[in-house]
Amino acid sequence: MKPFLNETIPSYWFIFRENLLLVEFADDSASIPFYSNLSKLNMSLELNQPIYFGAFETIPCYYFEASNDLEIPKKMSFQSIRKLFGLLNEELLWVAGRAFQLLVWDKNSQYCGRCGNPTELKFDERAKICPECSLLVFPRISPAIIVGIIDQQKKKILLANGTRFPASFYSVLAGFVEPGETLEECVRREVLEEVGIEVNNIRYFGSQSWPFPDSLMIGFLADYATGQIVINPIEINDANWFTADNLPQVPGEISIARKIIDWFVQNY
Ligand SMILES: [Zn+2]
Repeated sequence: MKPFLNETIPSYWFIFRENLLLVEFADDSASIPFYSNLSKLNMSLELNQPIYFGAFETIPCYYFEASNDLEIPKKMSFQSIRKLFGLLNEELLWVAGRAFQLLVWDKNSQYCGRCGNPTELKFDERAKICPECSLLVFPRISPAIIVGIIDQQKKKILLANGTRFPASFYSVLAGFVEPGETLEECVRREVLEEVGIEVNNIRYFGSQSWPFPDSLMIGFLADYATGQIVINPIEINDANWFTADNLPQVPGEISIARKIIDWFVQNY
């Protein structure tokens, strides 16, 4: 779809450089620039076509990858989406995540993975098609479970320090879903693999898009059933049971991991 290269019709422009998003700062908040803020930039729109990907509150949204030599106005800068939590309107933050996920998909699906020919955008759905072999390529979404394990008798939650976390940081367990597996089977397998215990009473908590770059986090609660904690040292440095009044350092408010932990604190 053609961009609105028209200053009189507002449109949000999600402009990325590498994995950073261009935002405009005023006082203690950030905003997504409108095209009218950008029209004076020397952007080469011929090289990197802006892509329309939907509307937010009726305002059309485009994403665009900027070249490294793009000169940006003083009050604007490129920032990590995750670091914009609390600075940018939260709904727009997730729109930015969607833009980033689509941009990455767009870059990674320029050629057919089966026969190597250039792909083409389909016009009737969000997908690409190979004109040679008809392979369809949809945006990749990688489902992952995330689970808060509760010991109902001792009123404790299991939290772990993963090998990829900062030293003092503990969170609930998470892992990617394998082909052929149900979400409940994935919960049981991940828990057994990472901390060696068995769980039951698995119930849905909520979900969250996690576009860094393409995860969908599906959150669960589960009850401790049997076993002693035996950590898998490849993935976990330490795992332990914690009461609500004695928690270690936990993830920031943006994540569903934190929402599960906050739910535990409110209810136990
Ligand atoms: Zn092909």
